[in-house]
Amino acid sequence: NEVTKLESQYKPIFSANHYVGCTGSQPSTRGFTCSVWQLFHYLTVQAARTEISQDPLEILQAMHGYIKHFFGCTNCAEHFQAMATKRKIWSTPNKDDAVLWLWAAHNEVNNRLAGDSTEDPLFPKIQFPSQSSCSGCYKQPISPAIMETNWDKNAVLSFLKNIHNPEYISRYGVEHEELLQPTIEKLRQKRMIGNVFSDMDMRMGMLLYVFCIGMMVIAFKLFAFKGYRKKPYGHDLLGKV
Ligand SMILES: Cc1cc2nc3c(=O)[nH]c(=O)nc-3n(C[C@H](O)[C@H](O)[C@H](O)COP(=O)(O)OP(=O)(O)OC[C@H]3O[C@@H](n4cnc5c(N)ncnc54)[C@H](O)[C@@H]3O)c2cc1C
Repeated sequence: NEVTKLESQYKPIFSANHYVGCTGSQPSTRGFTCSVWQLFHYLTVQAARTEISQDPLEILQAMHGYIKHFFGCTNCAEHFQAMATKRKIWSTPNKDDAVLWLWAAHNEVNNRLAGDSTEDPLFPKIQFPSQSSCSGCYKQPISPAIMETNWDKNAVLSFLKNIHNPEYISRYGVEHEELLQPTIEKLRQKRMIGNVFSDMDMRMGMLLYVFCIGMMVIAFKLFAFKGYRKKPYGHDLLGKV
């Protein structure tokens, strides 16, 4: 009820009705649970990028509460709560660590579910990010002898902040772009226009514009109201002859 109330109070809110980022290769895979992960990763990153709140647990606590009370998969919810206690969710010291806490927790779930029947064959459960998408996130090349990945957590943090930066997020499937923050491309175009034309240029341009309009009004008054004078043509004279 609260969500519905807020939705009508602040509408329009949603830029699209279907989140294409979590479309599975089969109807039974990905979808909602994938979107829940994506949403909370996005929120931890946004909290770390802004100064709106200094509470490092704001997003993790919201996620913990949501999973505990509303997540349809009871098994998943129990696993998540057990993992939260084991990984000391309530001791997360700052907002960057909250981003990394969720990343590491998600990787633990990925590890547990790798090869599971719920896995989408086109989206295998890997330790995220893959080496091909962020080689700098790995401190040393993965070898079969090393069981645990040696992560460069600073690089992982930058990678996560980058992929969840609203300016870079793909607009594919978006129906109401005006509800979103401008993309980096749009911002660049704006800045380019701003750089090419200085404030002075803009003011001069406006003056010229007003001057031209004024000239047009004067010209219209001078010529339009003096009546139509027929231009004498040679064939008129010849006709009279
Ligand atoms: C809290 C929670 C607990 C769950 N527990 C279970 C369970 O016990 N059993 C079960 O069968 N299913 C569980 N699920 C569902 C499962 O984790 C997947 O969401 C589902 O199988 C769909 O997988 P997916 O391939 O779309 O990728 P998902 O694992 O849903 O990931 C979505 C996207 O997030 C990104 N991503 C992947 N890993 C990371 C990471 N470490 N950090 C940041 N981004 C990442 C990738 O782009 C990926 O495509 C749980 C889901 C949630 C939200």
